[in-house]
Amino acid sequence: MNAEILTVGTELLLGDIVNSNSQFLSRELAVYGIDTLYQSTVGDNRERLKSALLLALSRCDMVVLTGGLGPTEDDLTRETVAEVLDIPLVLHEESEARIEEYFRTTGKEYTENNRKQAMLPEGCTVFPNDHGTAPGCAVERDGKCVILLPGPPSELTPMFLEYVAPFLQRFSGETIRSHTVGVFGIPEAAIDERLHDLMQSENPTVAPYAKAGEVQLRVTAKAASEAEADELCRPVIDEIRERLGAAVYGVDTGSLVKTVVEQLKERNKKIATAESCTAGLLSGKLTEVPGVSQVFECGIAAYSPEIKRQVLGVPESILEAEGTVSPEAAGAMAAGARRVGGADIGIGITGVAGPDPSEGKEVGTVYVALVDDRRVWAKRIFAGGDVRDREQIRNAATLHALDMTRRYLEAYPGVMAGGQLLEKMKQPVQAPPRKPAPTMRGWHWVWLSVLLVLIVAAFVAVYALFLRPYQHNREIKDLNEIYSLGLDWQGLADIKPGTVKYPDSMLSQFTGLYSINDDVRGWLVVDDTSISHPVVIDPTDG
Ligand code: ATP
Ligand code: MG
Repeated sequence: MNAEILTVGTELLLGDIVNSNSQFLSRELAVYGIDTLYQSTVGDNRERLKSALLLALSRCDMVVLTGGLGPTEDDLTRETVAEVLDIPLVLHEESEARIEEYFRTTGKEYTENNRKQAMLPEGCTVFPNDHGTAPGCAVERDGKCVILLPGPPSELTPMFLEYVAPFLQRFSGETIRSHTVGVFGIPEAAIDERLHDLMQSENPTVAPYAKAGEVQLRVTAKAASEAEADELCRPVIDEIRERLGAAVYGVDTGSLVKTVVEQLKERNKKIATAESCTAGLLSGKLTEVPGVSQVFECGIAAYSPEIKRQVLGVPESILEAEGTVSPEAAGAMAAGARRVGGADIGIGITGVAGPDPSEGKEVGTVYVALVDDRRVWAKRIFAGGDVRDREQIRNAATLHALDMTRRYLEAYPGVMAGGQLLEKMKQPVQAPPRKPAPTMRGWHWVWLSVLLVLIVAAFVAVYALFLRPYQHNREIKDLNEIYSLGLDWQGLADIKPGTVKYPDSMLSQFTGLYSINDDVRGWLVVDDTSISHPVVIDPTDG
């Protein structure tokens, strides 16, 4: 089978961008036994695109187009292909739902034009876009195959590897096997340089593609059987390992975070994290991996210095002398996370994600630390570079923390280089113990009872010694007045005429007393003493 690669875009003609899509596709098509006979480029112009497409169809079995699938007016590829092949565009509902979801999750504004991207030639094979909006597709007609792919390499490459490659398998008479080598810590350009000769090889091929801060190298071989294809891949993978050293984190492990979770499980180690500038990004990434609960204890987003102090026990002395963005603070945070989570490994991340510098430290300055039961490793990374984008810095910080964990676990039970003993680190102070809520113990009750008894006794004493005699004297004094003044019933306001019957022989001094109490019989006075009070009879005494 043969093919023409038709790249669409005025920018390419102007020389504003390098046509890397053509290079990538030519190499990839070869893997599937598809020979590229022509590479052509056309601007964003409907008529010229139409004639370029007709020409390509006249001379090749397959035409692979890239670019012009976007939502704007100058994105014409879909419509032009449908017109040339005379196939109507119909709404692909699954793609429409994906596009809507993409806009929802990224918070971008969804317009009617975006819906246009879900209009695809009827009966086509759809290639989902996991990194953007425009889906790709393959249309087969009259023995020809036309493949439409998005222009941005960051969308095209993963779409090709994930969905187009399996579609192309049927054009190859052989068995094709791919293995992915995960690399972290070496920029893509440096990888290109170190592996340049391997990337020229035809079987197996080596193709790099960047994936959210990591680089994946796909090694693909074709042979009569799977075993033979694998046999071809093996020495190339070994060579890549040899050249890139410890930057290779795994083969066919999926991603750095999946590799870390697998290694934690294998070594039966539990991890806890404390994050400042990334505030949960690392724990979020870890928890995306199914089954992580076996190895992940807790993730603390410790943004403010108070929480760093109170929850993680970062010593005040460190925060004051070194600042919150320092290797010491990162180490103390890691130790705090490990202690709080009761984990084997603690991770601390602190840094300046921007947009403004903090504590006099540049945007992009990040410290990552790892602590185990004996040692601490702290590392400064500078994630800012030319593009000091907050999200990129946070993402890079997270990946560096994962990579440090991966290297620690790879070395285990040996010791990763570069650590220092924990005793040498300023020891994190224990968070001040919380005061227990006051409770009434037994002895409290005893004291309370004694106090109550004393108060009651004091009242009784005051009454008996002072109040009662005073009251008694007042009463006697009042009676004395009534008696000595010789008041009769007319002198007492409450006594109405006729309500009291006085004994016939009663002296007039007694009338007042008698009206109060008719048991009164006299008045006793003893000279030279204070005795002077009424005499009454006991009414119960017959
Ligand atoms: P979008 O939805 O971004 O508009 P598209 O599928 O319409 O995507 P184009 O508009 O043609 O694609 O190109 C978008 C960007 O993709 C270009 O600005 C360029 O950066 C990159 N690009 C397009 N074609 C190529 C190519 N052949 N090689 C490398 N990069 C390319
Ligand atoms: Mg476009």
